Amino acid sequence: MSYQTEVVVIGAGAAGFGAALTCVDAGKKVILLEKGDKVGGAGLFGAQGLFAVESCQQKADGSSFTVKDAYSELMNYTHYRSDPTITKAILEKSAETINWLGQHGLKTELVNNTQEVHQDHPKVYHQYIDKFAAFDYMVNYFKNSGGRLLTKTTASKLINEKGIISGVEIRRNQQTDIIKCQAVIVADGGYIGNSEMVKANLGIDSSNLYSMGERKATGDGIRMLAEIGADVKHLGTFENHAASVVSFQNPKWHNATIFTLTNLPFLWINREGSRFVNEAICYDFALWGNITYTMGGYYYFIIDQNTVDYLKNQTLNWTDSFERTFKSLQNQPVTHKVGPFPRIESDLNEAVEQHVAWKDNGLKGLATKLNIPYHILKANLDGYNQIVKTNEDTQFYKPAKYLQFPVSQGPFYAVRANSTSLGTIGGVKTNSKMQVLTANLKSISGAYVAGNNATGMYDTSYPTLEGISCSFAWNSGRIAGESAVQQLINL
Ligand SMILES: Cc1cc2nc3c(=O)[nH]c(=O)nc-3n(C[C@H](O)[C@H](O)[C@H](O)COP(=O)(O)OP(=O)(O)OC[C@H]3O[C@@H](n4cnc5c(N)ncnc54)[C@H](O)[C@@H]3O)c2cc1C
Repeated sequence: MSYQTEVVVIGAGAAGFGAALTCVDAGKKVILLEKGDKVGGAGLFGAQGLFAVESCQQKADGSSFTVKDAYSELMNYTHYRSDPTITKAILEKSAETINWLGQHGLKTELVNNTQEVHQDHPKVYHQYIDKFAAFDYMVNYFKNSGGRLLTKTTASKLINEKGIISGVEIRRNQQTDIIKCQAVIVADGGYIGNSEMVKANLGIDSSNLYSMGERKATGDGIRMLAEIGADVKHLGTFENHAASVVSFQNPKWHNATIFTLTNLPFLWINREGSRFVNEAICYDFALWGNITYTMGGYYYFIIDQNTVDYLKNQTLNWTDSFERTFKSLQNQPVTHKVGPFPRIESDLNEAVEQHVAWKDNGLKGLATKLNIPYHILKANLDGYNQIVKTNEDTQFYKPAKYLQFPVSQGPFYAVRANSTSLGTIGGVKTNSKMQVLTANLKSISGAYVAGNNATGMYDTSYPTLEGISCSFAWNSGRIAGESAVQQLINL
């Protein structure tokens, strides 16, 4: 079967829909390809909202946060290793994109920032109101506007004649077909689903990485663009996000008590047995993810029997770092309390059975089980207990409020938390029109890139501005769509 269209969009996630809807709104013929049987990608199953600055909602809320403020914050965060023109283009578009999304069925509400330490930062997080209904609406809108959606269809090759895009090879119903087109927008979500690529570009042993990202994002777009001469040297930025206790013998295993304990600033030690950070970093997910990555991909949180006994019966006046995220989705107030955990002992024992926790009556035994030198573990726990006693963390400056529990009474428990990623961000060199560039900074005619595939706004890690990755996806997708439309007008 042969197909003919003006624009092919590869990947029906956030960036792909941003691009495809922009093109059909301009009256262009579009085929949107989706590898899976459902649309949305991480932009639907994962994201709950997106960043914007100077939106109508922010103005109505009295916000004085400007594009200039956000620009400075991002450029400083990335040490000016991100691209200023791309960063500016995304930020400038972000407010209007909130209106545009609303017009295309995806309504949002401005909520308090969803992470604890961002409460003093101006509000930037525009939370999706009903994302599932919205994506259904967008599919219908796209089709009713003349767009063609091909699901269960994998883009496998870009056809580039004399430096100009002329088609896309696809795999569909176990057949290979060609779609002839004049422009292609590659928005297939990066490469977190490709274990070989992850292994090659990750700074830690990949067995320590837990991916929550889109499994179908297997780097096809990056590979296809590399084959036609794109600069894809910018791989290796991971959206590190918090840390997770993961059972590798049963990846679906979940225990609510263990989940909450992981989200609290107890004592953490690295694989050498040393304390390494102010554990209250758990209140900022990007920074928490980054420090876990820096420690080589995992750490242990350690509690003793006295702590277990306390948590069994009493409420603790700390905040589960994820509570605000979940409560803001339900429009409920945050309690700033956790526990009691009446089943904590059996929950910890379950974690031991899953090989994600270790328990021993003595520290020596625990050190042996964790394969770390006893003298290092002992020295670090002694040091921490002294910090708790004096109620002042002169080592890493954890607030006194969290210096409540010494670790001195066996049995001792160590629970392993792993580096966690929401996806890869970046790879393909582009400009502020989302045109694909070669290593010589020449644009490849007819080729555009967007979302997690595109390099431009990130440096080594995911910035702390809430909702920025989905914002980048929607906005870069829209810009890529506008650029493709302009190219067709200029023909
Ligand atoms: C659990 C989770 C929570 C998140 N929460 C947030 C949040 O609240 N706010 C935020 O800003 N960001 C969040 N993110 C990140 C955000 O979802 C992504 O940055 C964004 O979705 C990236 O958009 P994308 O279009 O590049 O990729 P995706 O949205 O993942 O879409 C890519 C699509 O391409 C398809 N595809 C892949 N290969 C091919 C191929 N060869 N041919 C055809 N189709 C293909 C995939 O199946 C997929 O549907 C979250 C991510 C996760 C995993």
